[in-house]
Amino acid sequence: MSYKSDIEIAREANKKPIQEIGEKLGIPSDHLLPYGHDKAKVSQDFINSVKGNKNGKLVLVTAINPTPAGEGKTTTTVGLGDGLNRIGKKAAVCIREASLGPCFGMKGGAAGGGYAQVVPMEEMNLHFTGDFHAITTAHNLLSAMIDNHIYWGNELGIDERRVVWRRVLDMNDRALRDIVTSLGGVANGFPRQTGFDITVASEVMAILCLSTDLEDLEHRLGNIIVAYTRDKQPITCRDIKADGAMTVLLKDAMQPNLVQTLENNPAFVHGGPFANIAHGCNSVMATTTALKLADYVVTEAGFGADLGAEKFMNIKCRKAGLAPSVVVVVATVRAMKMNGGVAKADLGAENVEAVKKGCPNLGRHIENVKSFGVPVVVAINHFVTDTDAEVQAVKDYVAEQGSEAILCQHWAKGSEGTEELATRVAAIAEAGQANFAPLYPDDMPLLQKVETIAKRIYRADEVLADQKIRNQLKEWEDAGYGNLPVCMAKTQYSFTTDPRRRGAPTGHSVPVREVRLSAGAGFVVVICGEIMTMPGLPSKPAAEAIKLNADGDIEGLF
Ligand code: ADP
Ligand code: MG
Repeated sequence: MSYKSDIEIAREANKKPIQEIGEKLGIPSDHLLPYGHDKAKVSQDFINSVKGNKNGKLVLVTAINPTPAGEGKTTTTVGLGDGLNRIGKKAAVCIREASLGPCFGMKGGAAGGGYAQVVPMEEMNLHFTGDFHAITTAHNLLSAMIDNHIYWGNELGIDERRVVWRRVLDMNDRALRDIVTSLGGVANGFPRQTGFDITVASEVMAILCLSTDLEDLEHRLGNIIVAYTRDKQPITCRDIKADGAMTVLLKDAMQPNLVQTLENNPAFVHGGPFANIAHGCNSVMATTTALKLADYVVTEAGFGADLGAEKFMNIKCRKAGLAPSVVVVVATVRAMKMNGGVAKADLGAENVEAVKKGCPNLGRHIENVKSFGVPVVVAINHFVTDTDAEVQAVKDYVAEQGSEAILCQHWAKGSEGTEELATRVAAIAEAGQANFAPLYPDDMPLLQKVETIAKRIYRADEVLADQKIRNQLKEWEDAGYGNLPVCMAKTQYSFTTDPRRRGAPTGHSVPVREVRLSAGAGFVVVICGEIMTMPGLPSKPAAEAIKLNADGDIEGLF
């Protein structure tokens, strides 16, 4: 049997004009700023006007540690949103925008998959409403103004060797990771070593996603530390006087984008920070707005629950005053098998024993999420190769953990495939069982915050940090940054810092290699292992297969 590709399904969608989608949420059409017929931004004035509304219920979709088998968090987020609408709830979906880098690199879109997708998927995966271009431009304006300041006399006394603000581009381009700028003579400035990161790794992206309004955005942009003086005093974006112009460039990008699912239900697609050196969730603006307009808001956090859900709770929810009512942990039979030691090539054959062996990874994520005081439901994202016995093995395991696993077939069937999950999620949310609390208080010392996450979420015995790192954290505490949350950057493939250790390992230690202060975004990044902020393209990039066909349709985009 052959299946339609995501783009084929998306192309056949019966899209409604975006004004009709807005109507479902009570957004008057003059407050929708249309970008074509099927995309619109929601006006800042309208957002301000609904601030007094009661909040709907927030549902987080997270997952086990990702494997090359694929989990389907976005697909399940969209499927559950449609499922809730199907059972008569007013629900909206909130997901991240796509980065062009991975789009032309490895296959895999950001709009969901099968019959659980957001449309228009081509545009969403390409330029969309230009938000990422605006972020790139705002970021690079600051870069240009720093070098310009140095060129015209360097009144602030910036140490050219200590400029920490790099440049960004929304492209996978390893050639730009480390570069020398200002070559070519006196008129071009002072040569210095720097480099490019991908746009989603920009602190401007994290700031846009955490800001509550334009004033907050401008304030946070001003706080960015861009360089240090010779005696190591920080120079901020405010010192460079770039915060005002950057806010102007980001004014439209701050307004959330409204699109629709294949079943014509509302979906907000806004922001897309990296999930390692940043917090990996869609914007606070989109989530808080959706909560004012819908009874249920289903949103996704990047990577597995050890990174994504932890940051969603400890960074986004803490800072934006949000509290999830229920968390859905996505698991697949295939990923359980891989956690149980099966190679990717052998995933097609039934192997109940391997499924059972891999389940402890899921079990630990369930336990971890519950430790935030939030009830958990497991969604088994069904693949056509899964057998009944394998599915039953996951259900039995989850029942032993005191939770429930529900088989979901949204990829193949749309909302019909998530009716049971939606019914259960709504029942739990309405019962009001959640008693959410972040894992640590604001005033805990920074290193202790790292230890709390390492021990309680990763189940490590210890955190290894040398004196240099401890001193740095202490310096930031003395400078008034001690109350910030920490943003862990480690591999998404394992609870440990070793990507090869699947399952539910114990007895490991978490070495901290580097710490960085994102003073604008408002967190301290704790880097444990190799973290790439400018990806490269694979030997056969997806771009080679992307083209326009004779009808002018895009081919090869998943
Ligand atoms: P995540 O958000 O966890 O990264 P996605 O939801 O984006 O994952 O899904 C990744 C890819 O896997 C998509 O191309 C999607 O079409 C595919 N996929 C998801 N669920 C299924 C499924 N049940 N069967 C087949 N393919 C699926
Ligand atoms: Mg996703």
